[in-house]
Amino acid sequence: MAFRDLRTGKNKKALPNNDDVKNIIKKAKNHEFYNSYREQSLRIHPWICAKCNKEFSVNNLHLLTIHHKDGDHNNNPPDGRNWEHLCVYCHDNEHKRMLDGEQSKIFDTESHKGDSGLTHNPFAALKNITSK
Ligand SMILES: [Zn+2]
Ligand SMILES: [Zn+2]
Repeated sequence: MAFRDLRTGKNKKALPNNDDVKNIIKKAKNHEFYNSYREQSLRIHPWICAKCNKEFSVNNLHLLTIHHKDGDHNNNPPDGRNWEHLCVYCHDNEHKRMLDGEQSKIFDTESHKGDSGLTHNPFAALKNITSK
């Protein structure tokens, strides 16, 4: 139907100003793009969380998210090598873990050695300092 409008040229009169059009197109493209990489990833990877191995179906697929392995949401090679399927919980943990990794370099203390690094509060060391 959009093509018919283009052929008649009538859409030109109905269009709002150029900036509005640019914004609309930009939004539409972003939306389209988001959907396309998610769909593409769902097509080529199994519907299983890469961390906890939970399996997903069409009924709970909205809980399966696409994680970018290198953290760059603009890096979307069509072969899917930068995508990983994670359930919302593992995805959350994955990003917290990445954050903790950075924080623990700053706040590393003796007491943290030996733990898995998964549960410690990166601000615990800071709290000790400020409460003295
Ligand atoms: Zn999971
Ligand atoms: Zn992610």
